[in-house]
Amino acid sequence: MSRRHPLLVGLTGGIGSGKSTVAKIFQILGIPCYFADDRAKWLMANEPKLIEGIKANFGPESYLEDGTINRSYLAEKVFSDPEKVKKINALVHPAVGKDFKTWAENQTSPYVLKEAALIFETGSNKDLDYVINVSSPIKVRIARVLMRDNHRTVEQVNNIIDQQLPDENKNELADFVIKNVDNKLLIPQVLKVHEVLIAKSN
Ligand code: ATP
Repeated sequence: MSRRHPLLVGLTGGIGSGKSTVAKIFQILGIPCYFADDRAKWLMANEPKLIEGIKANFGPESYLEDGTINRSYLAEKVFSDPEKVKKINALVHPAVGKDFKTWAENQTSPYVLKEAALIFETGSNKDLDYVINVSSPIKVRIARVLMRDNHRTVEQVNNIIDQQLPDENKNELADFVIKNVDNKLLIPQVLKVHEVLIAKSN
């Protein structure tokens, strides 16, 4: 008997670990990928209930007159305060979880991926069948991010790393680990995980 829904697979990893790069390889294999961080930004700008919740908690000035999100206000008033970050995450993460579920139900592939920097940290692994962690040494990750993002400093990258669960913990919690280091090819590792997930979906 075929399953009614695709398996739900998380794809996580610390900043600069190579999640998006690995996601692109899965996409080439025909696996649909939900990019949670991009989608969260879209939902914050477009999902009426979420917008209402953000305005109710952080004031109407969270949005500009033209209805777009007031990024500088939120950066100053919300993202600088850990308690407020918790509050906004408590609004955004359930909205993303719901949106992901609806999206996944409309896919016809054997499994789908949810690419997100925070999966174990938010507990969203509970709603997933499997989680893949992309693992890479901190030094390599910092160098890659600094090369990719001109606007970021080493201190900013380290601050983000401090807010994420350490790689070793994620490797222990994950069902699959893809090592993104210079001496290991990514494509054969992705193919191996893909084959196992296809087998599990049958
Ligand atoms: P973020 O958490 O910031 O979104 P990420 O985990 O999605 O990062 P990527 O954007 O995939 O990471 O990779 C970070 C940078 O490192 C990118 O510029 C990417 O092209 C590069 N990169 C990733 N893997 C490799 C690799 N194996 N060899 C060389 N460069 C790589």
